[in-house]
Amino acid sequence: MRDCFVGAGTLLAMTEEKKGSKVTLKRTLIKNGCVLSLDKKVGNFHQADVLIEGTKIAVVGPNLSAADAEVIDASDMIVMPGFVDTHRHVWEGILRNIGTDIPLEGAEGYLSIILKTLAPVYRPEDAYIGDLVGLYGAIDAGITTILDWSHIQATREHADAVVRALQESGMRAVFAYGYPWWKDPDEHQEDWIRDVAKQYFASKDQLLTFALAVPGPEFVSFEKTKAHWQLARELEARITVHVGVGTAGKLCKLLEMGKAGLLEDDTTYIHCTTLSDEEIKMIVDTGGAVSLSSTSEMTMGYGMPPVQRFLNLGLRPSLSVDAETNMPNDMFTQMRSVISLQHGMLFDRKLAGKRNLPPFMNSRDVIECATIEGARANGLAHKTGTLTPGKEADIILLSTDRPNILPVNDPIGAVVWGMDTSNVDSVFVAGKALKREGKLLNVDLDDLRRRAYESRDYVLAKSGFKLPEI
Ligand SMILES: [Zn+2]
Repeated sequence: MRDCFVGAGTLLAMTEEKKGSKVTLKRTLIKNGCVLSLDKKVGNFHQADVLIEGTKIAVVGPNLSAADAEVIDASDMIVMPGFVDTHRHVWEGILRNIGTDIPLEGAEGYLSIILKTLAPVYRPEDAYIGDLVGLYGAIDAGITTILDWSHIQATREHADAVVRALQESGMRAVFAYGYPWWKDPDEHQEDWIRDVAKQYFASKDQLLTFALAVPGPEFVSFEKTKAHWQLARELEARITVHVGVGTAGKLCKLLEMGKAGLLEDDTTYIHCTTLSDEEIKMIVDTGGAVSLSSTSEMTMGYGMPPVQRFLNLGLRPSLSVDAETNMPNDMFTQMRSVISLQHGMLFDRKLAGKRNLPPFMNSRDVIECATIEGARANGLAHKTGTLTPGKEADIILLSTDRPNILPVNDPIGAVVWGMDTSNVDSVFVAGKALKREGKLLNVDLDDLRRRAYESRDYVLAKSGFKLPEI
C-alpha cells in the first residue's frame, strides 16, 4: 500500500508497508536538469526534477522537493531514460576490434573466425570476463538495458558464467540463451535451457529476464526452428532471431514460418536485410519487433538495412550494437548511423527527381528508437524506455558543459548528433547508481583489465588465431 503526495513545490512523502511495518524507501531527487522524459504525456522540460523512490520513478516535474532525499544537482545535465541495446553478443567483449576489417562471410570472415575458430575454445571463465568487460563498457556508454544474444553455451557452466556476469554488472538485461554455432545446435541444449530457465528466471520481477536466441530458419532446418520456437513459447520466453542475413538470408524460410502460423508478437527479428516485401509485411502484421545494427549490416555485407521498408509500414526499429569485434559499443553511433542512412536514401531519390517521398526521420524519432522502441523489443516497455512515474528508475545524466557540446540549443539534437560516451556523467538502473561523476562504480578496473587480457591471451593461444599485423 502506498501513500503519495505529489505536486510542484510539494513535500513528498512515500512509504511502503511491508509485513505490517512501514519501511521508508530510499529517495533520490535529481534537481534542475533538462529533462527529456520522452513520454508525450509527461513532456520534456528545459528545467525540471526527477524523484526516484526505491527502484522506481515517483514524479517528474518542476520545483519538486522531498524530505530526506539525496539531492543530485543536474543543472548542467540532460536527464533522460537510459539507452536500450536489443542485440549484442556480449561474450565477445574480450575480442573487441579483432575483426574491424573483415566481412561477415568467407574463409576470413566473422562467421569463420569469431564463431567457428575463437568461440569453440572459450571456457566458462572466458565467457564470464568477455561479458563483464562488455557490460561495464555498455554502462559507461549510458546503456541501462541490454539483450545479451549469448550463443556461447558450449556447456551448462557457460550459461552459469554469463548469468553471473549479468547479475554482477547491475544492468537490466535479457539473457537470450543462444545455441552454439560451431557444432550440433541441439546436443543437450533443451535440458540446459529448461534448467537455466528454472534456476534463474522463475520470477519475471527482477533485473534479468529470459529469452531464447534461436539460430533461425536460414541457419538450421525448418523442423529444428519450429521446435526451438515451440520451446520458447512453452517457457514463455521471447524469441530473438537473425533473419535475412547476407547470402544465408536468401535461403530464409521466414515465409514458410509465417504461412505455418509461427510468427507472433513475442519475437524480435534482427537485421532483416535481404527479406522479401512479403516477409517484412508478415513481421509487421504479426506484431513483431525489429532490431537493426546498421553499422555491421552496411560494413560487413549483410545487405542494406531495411529501415525505410519498416517505416513505410509504420514500424519503428529498435537499435543494436551487434558485435564489438567490429563495432563501437555505444548507441550514439547507432542513432547517427541509422538516421544518416535513412536521410541518404531519401535524398538520393529526391535528387533523382522522385516525388511524394516518405518523411525524414528526425532526432526525436531516432532517440526513441534507441530507448522506448528498444524497451518494447526486449519485452520491457512497462518497466523502462521513458521517464514515466511508476516505471523503474533507469536514468542517465549527460553533461552539457563539456567543450564537445556547449552551448546546448536543441537538447534532443545535442544527444543524437553531438554527444558521445564522454558526456555520460551518471547512470542509474532501478534507482541504483552504476556510474557517477563520470566514473563507473562497483568495479575494480585494474582487476578487470588484467583478467580481460589473460582471457584474451588464452583464447588466442588455444585457437591459434593470430592478431592482424599493423
Ligand atoms: Zn548478431
